[in-house]
Amino acid sequence: MKVFKGIGVSPGISFGKVTILRDIPFVIPEYRIKKEDVEGEIERFKKAIKETEKELKEVKKKVREKLGKKYSDIFSVHIEFLKDKLLTEKTINLIREERINCESALKRALWEFLLFFKKNPTKVLKDRSKDFVDIVNKIFKNLGKGKEKTADFKEEIIIAEDLSPSQTASFTKDTVFGFITEKGSATSHTAIMARALEIPAVVGVSNIIENVKEGDKVLIDGDEGIVIVNPTPSVINKYKEKRERILRYKKQFYILKKLPTKTKDGKEIKLHANIELPQEAITAEKYGAEGIGLYRTEYLYLNRNDLPSEEEQFQAYKKVAEIMGGKCVIIRTLDIGGDKFASTFNYPTELNPFLGWRAIRFCLERKDIFETQLKAIMRASIYGDLKIMIPMISTVEEVIETKKLLKKVKEKLKKEKKEFKENIELGIMIETPSAALISDKLAEEVDFFSIGTNDLIQYTIAVDRINNKIAHLYQPCHPSVLKLIKQVIENGHKKGIWVGLCGEMASIPEIALLLIGMGIDELSMSPISIPEVKKAIRKFSFKKLKKISEKIFEFSTHSDIINYLKENLKIE
Ligand code: PEP
Ligand code: MG
Repeated sequence: MKVFKGIGVSPGISFGKVTILRDIPFVIPEYRIKKEDVEGEIERFKKAIKETEKELKEVKKKVREKLGKKYSDIFSVHIEFLKDKLLTEKTINLIREERINCESALKRALWEFLLFFKKNPTKVLKDRSKDFVDIVNKIFKNLGKGKEKTADFKEEIIIAEDLSPSQTASFTKDTVFGFITEKGSATSHTAIMARALEIPAVVGVSNIIENVKEGDKVLIDGDEGIVIVNPTPSVINKYKEKRERILRYKKQFYILKKLPTKTKDGKEIKLHANIELPQEAITAEKYGAEGIGLYRTEYLYLNRNDLPSEEEQFQAYKKVAEIMGGKCVIIRTLDIGGDKFASTFNYPTELNPFLGWRAIRFCLERKDIFETQLKAIMRASIYGDLKIMIPMISTVEEVIETKKLLKKVKEKLKKEKKEFKENIELGIMIETPSAALISDKLAEEVDFFSIGTNDLIQYTIAVDRINNKIAHLYQPCHPSVLKLIKQVIENGHKKGIWVGLCGEMASIPEIALLLIGMGIDELSMSPISIPEVKKAIRKFSFKKLKKISEKIFEFSTHSDIINYLKENLKIE
């Protein structure tokens, strides 16, 4: 038995057989072929390409039925890859000119392709190279070498160095019990997908691949970030009990769903959900979300070769509005850049992408893209209670320019005789220290604030949110962060607007309680975290939480604050 520690990014306990996904999962022998066999070898290659295309179309159809068009579009990109000249023509030329078997010609073509990507190391190309390897593995399988593993796992735990979003999208919780990756972080795409699919997952588990072999048994605890290879029967029993405890606990959630989110002395808090895909709104409802506090629309732009049209976006936003049936839905405009890149945009390589051309900075320069999104949101606004939220604001001018553009969009829609809600609320994310420090001025321009602490923490403490090495410095309760949050809440309230928070820290019950004590009006989190936070809120009085929130400013370190919260806010 071996125990590993990583980052638990999608909760739940699962136990299954190890399947390792490697870039090229088998040895490729190279041999010379006779001149008269060349055409036959090329035919064999073309046949494998055709079979792969057929399979991809089937997977696409299945994924579309199960998860919707957004996921299945990834496979259209894969089908396009099959037609890539660099791959197919190169392979055929190598078979012809070098007279080698098609497997090794394909392998050589792949290396050249990867080399090309390495020389152009933008994040987009890195992501695409993973997809490319994926496709080549499928062709290898159809050439009769090795077994390929994507959509049809049974009771398996997938272990990989890293997984592309498209690989993750092909999993379903019926066939994949969980997955473990050596790379990744809580905010990586893979992690976000895992939560959307409700598949337990642990990422950032160093050296796991060299410590397991195919067929080993492995246990995942997605809450604690623990991975146990070949656990003993007593450990298995311990985790079975834990799983049953969680299931029993989950049953209470359905009772909780019907109860109001109020402190013991009656202060109401709005508990909203963060979603990445329209169909996640169904999960949000299931866990009792009173609205959507953050819809990360950039997922509409990722894993594809073109831009989502106004109509496609309109349908997505309308769908969320309709699922939520009149409850608040906050649509965040495109937050591209940082760690999220779309293949369609010609992104320059930046030394500091998190400080670079991202989110509103990108949108105000690519007004064509921004305008299309705003139009789609405005058109969908008549189907529910939609609000617009702008990410990464750092100056007042950005808000003013956005408002001007929104005005222009409204005029255009009027001309086009398309319906929309005139007085749609406009809010901003407070996720830079500059925005927090001028929140009194920003509050005069907008209808609400939502504090994006995932970024606010990284910018305040100067700690990269996806760098495992400095994870100990990523402190949600660092006094500097809490001071900024308090200031934002107070400035918002002084100007009569509501203030929410949608960073991951909202889902930690003790911290959620502290934020309520500080006066936060709304908390938004991944749907699965809602019941636990709601249960905690109902257990304490606002009076007590307010006192606690005043006391914590006497402490000077994150650990002192966390310890104080744990001692004074016993959740169980
Ligand atoms: C945040 O920064 O806190 C946030 C919610 O946005 P994202 O995680 O998408 O950057
Ligand atoms: Mg952010």
